[in-house]
Amino acid sequence: MNDQEIRKELDELKNQLTFFQDLGVEFLICPEKRAEASLSKEKMRESKNNDNPLLVNLEPVTGVTDNEEAEWDKLIHQIMVCRFCPLYKTRTKVVPGEGDRRARLMFVGEAPGRDEDLQGRPFVGRAGQLLTKIIQAMGLSRSQVYIANVIKCRPPENRTPKPEEIKACSPYLLKQIELIKPKVIVALGKVAVDFLLPGAKSMSEVRGNFGEFSGIPVMPTFHPSYLVRNEGNKEIKKMVWEDMKKVMKLLES
Ligand code: SF4
Repeated sequence: MNDQEIRKELDELKNQLTFFQDLGVEFLICPEKRAEASLSKEKMRESKNNDNPLLVNLEPVTGVTDNEEAEWDKLIHQIMVCRFCPLYKTRTKVVPGEGDRRARLMFVGEAPGRDEDLQGRPFVGRAGQLLTKIIQAMGLSRSQVYIANVIKCRPPENRTPKPEEIKACSPYLLKQIELIKPKVIVALGKVAVDFLLPGAKSMSEVRGNFGEFSGIPVMPTFHPSYLVRNEGNKEIKKMVWEDMKKVMKLLES
């Protein structure tokens, strides 16, 4: 690595640490330590179960079964060729979603933006970079969570999706949630909140309090693009971090 590349890496690291500081992150969890912690939890469970032969390990089996894999393949194919609403005419690429198909934590946003439409991946623009940093501040990586949107194709000029578009696209997100069975969902912004927690009032009223969708706790929080639009506002970042701390607590319980 040459000097210029090292400087670029250091600048990126500085930006990231400044963002964590603005969020109000008090400490960072090294991924190796998190792996060690879950390993020791596993050992504790094993030893408890060994002590009492009547106890069985009720942890869910990890990994996607062949059956689920086939369902995923079918679902992704349906999304990729979908023409159920007029948004197919203006999209560049469909953005089905990505991540761990057995993730315990799922993020649901509104719809792809320009960068997402070009790359076919969710949350890769500026707002996506902030979301990635938030996920990292939680001690996780993007590959350990699942990220999707209510709408799989970009509305022109990033306008809010119309109710009929949401209705046409909704079976896809519902199926994704059914297959993933996350322990917690984070709803990013009003469109996702309205979809998962119908009847919710304004974001300021619902934000930070768990709701429920099909028995799954849903944490409504601000969309990362709102953070981008209010870049200098540390209070908003802190609110989002408070919400994520609640999510982390639930995930660890
Ligand atoms: S937005 Fe959804 S329903 Fe509309 S064309 Fe795209 S995938 Fe199909």
